[in-house]
Amino acid sequence: MKITVTKPFLPKKEEYFKEIESIWDSHWLTNAGPKHDLLEKKLAEYLDIPFLSLFTNGHIALESAIAIFNFPKGSEIITTPFTFVSTVNAIVRNGLVPVFCDVKEDDYTIDADRIEKLITDKTVAIMPVHVYGHVCDVEKIDHIAKKYNLKVIYDSAHAFGVSYKGKGIANYGDLNMFSFHATKVFNTVEGGAVAFKDEKLKNQFYSMRNFGLINGFQCGNFDGNGKMSEFHAAMGLCNLRYVDECIEKRKKVYQKYIELLSDVRGIKLPSFSALEKYNYAYLPVIFDGYKCSRDEIIKRLSDHGIQTREYFYPIVSEYICYKNKKYRGDTPIAKRISEQVLSLPLYSDLELTDVETICKLILSV
Ligand SMILES: *Cc1c(COP(=O)(O)O)cnc(C)c1O
Repeated sequence: MKITVTKPFLPKKEEYFKEIESIWDSHWLTNAGPKHDLLEKKLAEYLDIPFLSLFTNGHIALESAIAIFNFPKGSEIITTPFTFVSTVNAIVRNGLVPVFCDVKEDDYTIDADRIEKLITDKTVAIMPVHVYGHVCDVEKIDHIAKKYNLKVIYDSAHAFGVSYKGKGIANYGDLNMFSFHATKVFNTVEGGAVAFKDEKLKNQFYSMRNFGLINGFQCGNFDGNGKMSEFHAAMGLCNLRYVDECIEKRKKVYQKYIELLSDVRGIKLPSFSALEKYNYAYLPVIFDGYKCSRDEIIKRLSDHGIQTREYFYPIVSEYICYKNKKYRGDTPIAKRISEQVLSLPLYSDLELTDVETICKLILSV
């Protein structure tokens, strides 16, 4: 048996070939071509947001989302270390300083009640992560941001298709970054986007992902290259046709896990508010006082050809490049969860019988 922790969705070959055929007529390969523009339009509709700019990947989208505010170098951004390293790298690569806030026990998103204590006169923004697609305390965060005049930039890399109180998740906060990496719920192979409400930002992001060029000749800024090609956009156009179906299938797999693993002593599963619509992106299981350790579970499953991932271990503040920096913020809950959490295989065409096998192996140790 061989089961990977995730499996990127692909459309039928013929469908993709048909989608890219017109590129041989136009020879328009990149630089905001027709497929790119169509995908931007369709994604804005799907995600229920006013505007969206596509990027070559989610990380560059996030760096650009931060850069667009021109914060003074050395300013502080409050985020959490319980995330993929990209979140924090994007802050540091902008010449800014990350400040780490702890997370909540129930859904592992930033604990909004701990944010205010971390704010100083250097704080310019809050960068929460909708980790695993779980919705942060968007209203509390918004309230704090208004009170202290801070920007809110969400790392929504995991939150494609998630909504809260009936609105697309990117309607909360100033900017939202989505990732369309191969392993995410919706993919363009590599790709990402920034979503926003202010139309004026459209031209700015357009210029930022194209070397800072304005109208093609004048350079306004020292920007790099973040453009999405027509071939990637074509993959997005194909995959978007199936994303609802994929999420529906993920839901079945997810529910099977919940059915088999809930009410087991020492196993904790995520909990959700009734106000959010979830995308079933990940299945993080916490082993806390279970009859064996997480590492033993990893080994047992791996011996049976089943891959799991310690998403997210270690916490980012413990990576070699961050460890000695002494950035502010004490995050004992994030640290403990990172030592207990394990992401189990979850993708749209994972067989329910495979879920049963995986759970049996976990429960019969
Ligand atoms: C995937 C991911 C990113 C980066 O997105 P890419 O498209 O891979 O560049 C950023 N933050 C989080 C939380 C992610 O999971």
